[in-house]
Amino acid sequence: MTFVVTESCIKCKYTDCVEVCPVDCFYEGPNFLAINPDECIDCALCEPECPVSAIVSEDDLKPDQELFLKINRDKSALWPNITERKDAPSDADDWKEIKDKRQYLAD
Ligand code: SF4
Ligand code: SF4
Repeated sequence: MTFVVTESCIKCKYTDCVEVCPVDCFYEGPNFLAINPDECIDCALCEPECPVSAIVSEDDLKPDQELFLKINRDKSALWPNITERKDAPSDADDWKEIKDKRQYLAD
């Protein structure tokens, strides 16, 4: 099983999650992070760290979040690994309450 980064992360990318991952399985895109599902050891340490509750266990994905399992798999294969926290985008707080932002996910 894996944990999955979902829609709330888009344009927020606070990166608090990467500091706690014992196997360094987060990958960084322009405005989103992805977890490699083959590397995640299902430890759940990252889930409470995310200020926008973007990280969800595969088993707890809601129907409208299930597409993010494939997004995490596909994007983590393409993007560089990230292991240290960095500053969030300057407008991250403006986006954290916005629910419908799937269309803004950047490659
Ligand atoms: S802490 Fe949450 S919003 Fe920040 S990068 Fe991780 S998943 Fe995305
Ligand atoms: S559940 Fe554990 S191993 Fe998986 S991404 Fe989160 S911190 Fe990393």
